[in-house]
Amino acid sequence: LPKLPHKQQESSEPRKRIAVLTSGGDSQGMNCAVRAVVRAAIARDCEAYFIHEGYQGLVDGGDKICKASWGDVRKFVSVSGTIIGTARCMDFKTREGRLKGAENLIINGIDALVVIGGDGSLTGADLFRSEWKTLVADLVSQKRITQQQASVNGHLTIVGLVGSIDNDMAGTDFTIGAVSSLHRICESVDNVTSTALSHKRAFVIEVMGRHCGWLALMAAVCTGADFVFIPEQPMDREEWKEKMCADIKAHRGQGRRATIVIVSEGAIDRDLKPIRSEDVAAVIEAECDLITRVTNLGHVQRGGVPASYDRVLGAVQGIQAVDVILKSTPTSDSKLIAIQNNMTAPVGLMEAVQKTKDIASLVAAKRFDEAMQLRDPYFSLLWNAYCHSGFRPASTPTNKRLRIGILHIGAPAGGMNAATRTLARLAINAGHTPVAFPNGIRGLLEGESSELGWLQVANWTPRGGSEIGTNRDLPDVDYGLCAYQLQKHRISCLFIVGGFEAYRGVAQLAEQRSNFPAFCVPIAYIPATISNNVPGADYSLGCDTSLNAITEACDRIVQSAASSHSRTFVVEVQGGNSGFLATLGGLSVGASRIYTPEEGITLKDLEQDVAQMKTKFIADSHRKDSANVGRVVLVSDGTSKTYTTEMISAIFTEEGAPLFDSRTAVLGHIQQGGTTSPVDRIHAVMFAHRAFFWLMDQCESSRQGGSGPAIYTKDPSSAVVIGTTDGKVTSTPVQDLDSKTDWVKRRPRHAWWHKGFAYNRLLSHYAVIPETQ
Ligand code: ATP
Repeated sequence: LPKLPHKQQESSEPRKRIAVLTSGGDSQGMNCAVRAVVRAAIARDCEAYFIHEGYQGLVDGGDKICKASWGDVRKFVSVSGTIIGTARCMDFKTREGRLKGAENLIINGIDALVVIGGDGSLTGADLFRSEWKTLVADLVSQKRITQQQASVNGHLTIVGLVGSIDNDMAGTDFTIGAVSSLHRICESVDNVTSTALSHKRAFVIEVMGRHCGWLALMAAVCTGADFVFIPEQPMDREEWKEKMCADIKAHRGQGRRATIVIVSEGAIDRDLKPIRSEDVAAVIEAECDLITRVTNLGHVQRGGVPASYDRVLGAVQGIQAVDVILKSTPTSDSKLIAIQNNMTAPVGLMEAVQKTKDIASLVAAKRFDEAMQLRDPYFSLLWNAYCHSGFRPASTPTNKRLRIGILHIGAPAGGMNAATRTLARLAINAGHTPVAFPNGIRGLLEGESSELGWLQVANWTPRGGSEIGTNRDLPDVDYGLCAYQLQKHRISCLFIVGGFEAYRGVAQLAEQRSNFPAFCVPIAYIPATISNNVPGADYSLGCDTSLNAITEACDRIVQSAASSHSRTFVVEVQGGNSGFLATLGGLSVGASRIYTPEEGITLKDLEQDVAQMKTKFIADSHRKDSANVGRVVLVSDGTSKTYTTEMISAIFTEEGAPLFDSRTAVLGHIQQGGTTSPVDRIHAVMFAHRAFFWLMDQCESSRQGGSGPAIYTKDPSSAVVIGTTDGKVTSTPVQDLDSKTDWVKRRPRHAWWHKGFAYNRLLSHYAVIPETQ
């Protein structure tokens, strides 16, 4: 057999020996981070080591610390928990334990450590590093290591990755595992809701989060729960009972059959006394006269398939951890790899840990609003959005009430319904009328419309597709008729949700304002397309749901490929001219290669890829577990008209024999359907909340007197794309995005996720990419 194509065989001394451990509570996505650390280390000419069972393995040493190879981390991405094990280790809290840990690292020549865990684990890591010099000195004086070993190991580099389902670490917007846990919670609450609806019952659902209400708040937002208790926003003892019962009764008064209350594990009242789920249930039974059940979701929240978001986060942060290690000097502070405003970057480890402790202290000191401000920026925003979603008596004077036109345009995408529900609820609560035009522009042209009701939209948040119907027709089919119908329906402003076609449609409406006064109304547009190809939004609604559908399908395909022994599946994903799904999907499923329209594909690429694939299968045959090999390659459907999915697969089969063969799988429309993912639900609520208040402000400033239309504006900034850019919720005038749009290829000229091309190459090939920052 040929030799393994391992870079380290060429170099005698590695640049660094980097060990990785997972510690504290396990979380989904930890394995993706471990895989990325190992592969990035090897790709950058370092040696990688596993430390099994967290700090306990570090203290115990021996076979708990072992060298990791490229192939050792294959199949890691789809597995929950942590394959290398975790533990709560009392020994490491003692100096003697840490002394043993230092000894074990030095014996193995390890000079850098990546710790994946929660704030406790990272506190331990920082302490370990700050004591390092004295630990080494003690080991020398106790003759446990030589002076020579001490001088070689005078410095230990530590980088932290936050693996925690609670999303409780300050300084990072998301921790690895939080989104997966939210998936488990939403699945459970969606399931419980169907039985609650059937029996007209109330359910109190307790979710994890000892000190942080992120999971509870997001679950409430994502499931449209009736009430939520989080530690950051406690109420007085009697106040919470009154408020909760008033909301439940108001919702029941609107005809709601189910009642869902979410309680964070750490829920407290303003006297810091715990609010227990059982107490909440007892109050509902007594005051609202509803049969009430308590469901404590417990440890199921830690398990299940890791969500695509956590897999990608783990992969990217794992690579960056290695890069930070290689850039660090003996005087650099320990770093934590955070994600802030949709950018992953190193931040001071101890500052982040300290800030996390400060939040707990602020809560203990009853300074709740300050605690809230230290949470990630979306936290307060979504708290406000959630507080506005319950039923409220109409607040707008009758003469100022508006009719808000709602259109879905383009292919269906997860989150369209959640956004529409949010907008409709906010509108109704304020006394306005949400008017939906069924099947988009087609319905408008046909003069069809329906006024959405508060109860009608109650259960729309999780639903995929489009409840009001969507269609690809654009206003240019008949501008005059569109204008006539908008006037006839007395529409004061427009709320449009849809893909690139919808974006084009909004631009058309704005352009035609001088010809058609009916278009001179504020227009808020939320991108919703699985291709994520609309400028002005980092994430369009539906793209996360689609990534999860691709991930789930590919996990099954890999299993089939592995069972068939030595098989590669060429999987085609949607996206048109946007390679977003292939790129993030590739990181999520651990694809061996991705082909995207942005990067294109050549005959030379294919030749190299076949050679590389052969090398990989040869490398596998050197392994003990070689019987179980399966791989996937992702092809974005718009990549090439010549090198089609079928052709790529045929070339792999022809050229790969007898080492491996290939099959195709075209995922097709399953990528557009299914239950909406929690991330898409959160985005939908956040964007629709922004859209509503933006529309109201615009309408107020465009209000006219006299006999003409009540609302009239030709201001170019009154037609906007609402989304997040650089992690912040923004409303960008469509006109300002013109130069950033490739109208022919139907995609933005630049997108943040393009850096994923290089990450895919690094994690799947032996190709080296430039080190970050
Ligand atoms: P989770 O968020 O799941 O609770 P965590 O990392 O905060 O994760 P902890 O139990 O607090 O979990 O910590 C995990 C391990 O980290 C501990 O068992 C201990 O070995 C180590 N550790 C925690 N705090 C310290 C400390 N102050 N000094 C030294 N080691 C510590």
